[in-house]
Amino acid sequence: MPRAVLEIIKERIIHNCVKIHKFTGKNIIAVVKSNAYGIGLWEVVSVLNELDFIDYFAVASPEEGVVLRELGIGKKILVLGGILEDEVDILFKNKLIPVVSDERHYELIKDLDIPFHLKFDTGMGRLGFLEFFNIKNSKNLEGVMSHFSSPSDSIFSFEQIKRFRKIYSKYGKVDVIHMESSAGIIYNLDFTTHVRIGLAIYGEKPLRDYPIEVEPALRLKARVISVKELPGNYPISYGRTFVTRKKMKVGVVSFGYADGLIKSLSNRMDFLFKGKRLPALGNITMDMTIIDLKDEDVKVGDWVYIVNEYQTFTDLSRNAGTIPYELMCNIASRVSRQLI
Ligand SMILES: *Cc1c(COP(=O)(O)O)cnc(C)c1O
Repeated sequence: MPRAVLEIIKERIIHNCVKIHKFTGKNIIAVVKSNAYGIGLWEVVSVLNELDFIDYFAVASPEEGVVLRELGIGKKILVLGGILEDEVDILFKNKLIPVVSDERHYELIKDLDIPFHLKFDTGMGRLGFLEFFNIKNSKNLEGVMSHFSSPSDSIFSFEQIKRFRKIYSKYGKVDVIHMESSAGIIYNLDFTTHVRIGLAIYGEKPLRDYPIEVEPALRLKARVISVKELPGNYPISYGRTFVTRKKMKVGVVSFGYADGLIKSLSNRMDFLFKGKRLPALGNITMDMTIIDLKDEDVKVGDWVYIVNEYQTFTDLSRNAGTIPYELMCNIASRVSRQLI
């Protein structure tokens, strides 16, 4: 039996997709880059592939697209991260749809019969053309897109929307138009055809007042490998950042920063056991974290939760001064994935 498990709750993922589809009235481009945000590509995609209102999967690189094809995925695959010269062949052979966001990308594919999307930089300062980009013919132009840099800032986002509207309309009729990410859906754009969603599918809310009731679809749990009592005034873990005041029952959980925690969560997170919060004590180590068992009857071999309905990746990320995306992408390959 594995010592640490990430449970992926199928029904919740479906529920979240349906909610997003209904709220926006648009079909979905499901963003599954980086092993589906670290969750597990196969587990996530095997669920999403059954939903007919998901028209595309989006990945970061052609290599990630090839993995999807090897898993037998027949849906359209959008490659968000540009095109390098040595990747053109792979794109073509695997019927991957590149996003052209640099003159060089366009040169590489302009003489091939390959559909593509054009990306505009309307205020992200990352990928995309700042202005109208002249293409030879628009036969293969399947889509146009842009990306919000600060969806919680409505003044700046409205400026981005205005810029995108102005540029894309110069291309005449384009089949697919997309700009909204999980947080971006609050703008409910009347000219886009699709929404490009990652985080919300997995049940994490990108904004405090999120208008869609997505439900946490992930649970992360690990087993206790030792239970013991420490006397008062006794240090815990490397660097002795925690010292007991009085005698204390502690547990050692087989989950550390090599499994996906980050050291800045040391002394700043709880584990959950039957609804009770058990604080982490001292520095998180590579493979283990020590927790306060309080009066709970925790035994060696018991499971404790790091993430569940009561403590999401978003909650944890706030304590660590980071974002849920980063914590999710950190979940190690030795953590077993279970689709339930
Ligand atoms: C990752 C990504 C998304 C998805 O963002 P979420 O906040 O996870 O919904 C959308 N568009 C682009 C260009 C991305 O890189």
